[in-house]
Amino acid sequence: MEKEITKKIRVYGIVQGVGFRPTVSRHADSCKIRGSVSNRGPYVEIFAQGSETAVNLFIEKVRTCPPKRAAILKVSEEILDTKEKYPDFSIIESEKTKGEIFISPDIAICEECKEELYDSKDRRYLHPFINCTCCGPRLTILDALPYDRERTSMKEFPMCPECEAEYYNPESRRYDAQPVCCNACGPEVYLIKTSDRTIDMKGSDAITEARRVISEGGIVAVKGIGGFHLCCDASNEAAVELLRKRKRRPAKPFAVMARNLEVVQSVCELSKEQEEILTGHQKPILLLVRKEIETKQLCSSVAPGNPKVGVMLPYAPVQLLLFQYPDGIKMPDFLVMTSGNVSGAPICRSDEEAHEELSEFCDCILSHNRKIRVRADDSVMDFYKNRPYMIRRSRGGYAPLPIQTSGKWKGQVLAVGGELKNTFCIGVDSRFYPSAYVGGDLEDLRTVNALKETIQRMEHC
Ligand SMILES: [Zn+2]
Ligand SMILES: [Zn+2]
Repeated sequence: MEKEITKKIRVYGIVQGVGFRPTVSRHADSCKIRGSVSNRGPYVEIFAQGSETAVNLFIEKVRTCPPKRAAILKVSEEILDTKEKYPDFSIIESEKTKGEIFISPDIAICEECKEELYDSKDRRYLHPFINCTCCGPRLTILDALPYDRERTSMKEFPMCPECEAEYYNPESRRYDAQPVCCNACGPEVYLIKTSDRTIDMKGSDAITEARRVISEGGIVAVKGIGGFHLCCDASNEAAVELLRKRKRRPAKPFAVMARNLEVVQSVCELSKEQEEILTGHQKPILLLVRKEIETKQLCSSVAPGNPKVGVMLPYAPVQLLLFQYPDGIKMPDFLVMTSGNVSGAPICRSDEEAHEELSEFCDCILSHNRKIRVRADDSVMDFYKNRPYMIRRSRGGYAPLPIQTSGKWKGQVLAVGGELKNTFCIGVDSRFYPSAYVGGDLEDLRTVNALKETIQRMEHC
């Protein structure tokens, strides 16, 4: 019989809140491995006992078949000289150790959550904050590390017993998902009147009213994941012109959000590779060539004289609800979704900022009470020679994942870049953290303050 060995394995990367431990436990069962797995904060620690072949096969499975949203950056393994015999494989709760940690980016709503969102029998039917282990906000709700609900803006929303049961059940889709919530215990959307800054309506009434205003040619500021957008009907020339006039932005293209992939295909050229990026869990704005400069669904003032248009698909549940909601209002297939900021300033993230800066641009504000801690504007991508080409690396699967450099360079660096927009980047040793995209113009005091705030927060992490 083959000799038994015991290995201690440490997995570094995005390994928290992505269902890593249950996956490891399943791999252990399938390879007949005994031992344990625990979440140590900066890494997941595994003790694996079994025949040498089985242990190595198990490590290979952990490396190559991690959970969908995990990102493994490093795996270390060490043979232990131990007499201890593990009776089975168990998931253990343990003290988290301090150390460097990788923060997960925010993840667009997944297919399963989308289905539940529109399932009238589901208890999260039409819940604007539905999320699971595979999707939902991460970086933008984070106060400090380790990443646990009590250190996020979800702290203000204690879980109801049903959500709590899912959170602690390794078989659940919501096991260890920090922002898990439902219609009973989660945050709430509301509509703010721009005239007197009072909350006008809450919940479903607020969503219906926002849809009504947009469908009738008005402009609504909508709070999403990393900040506010200014939103109007992209097929309505008068509405888009009005937004241009109010925002004093005569010609620079506006990004649009499409109802679904099919409507994008109907107006834009889309290769297979582009389709993958557009529908992937990062949901960036992708620059696509229009089939015709003018179509009924996209009026010409969206991107005047430009053969391309920046398109993204809905990534926050509330954005899906803007397109589809059981209230009888007919919504367009494309909505303008441009960052809610005044020229030169970063994207607004709080109601106060939205009041101050966006009131003159919009007819009402659709907001909610889950606070955004770190701004993250939409990522923007183009394609060059049939390969993705990053223009702005930010929300959704990108920031704050580090870019590793190969050298042994040690030091710290602050990089600010871009001509029209800045993505700030904080480097530590050989890793560069393209942190939450702050945007804005460095000559603008609001941008400098937002940058300071972001750096402080990242240091805290
Ligand atoms: Zn999900
Ligand atoms: Zn709940």
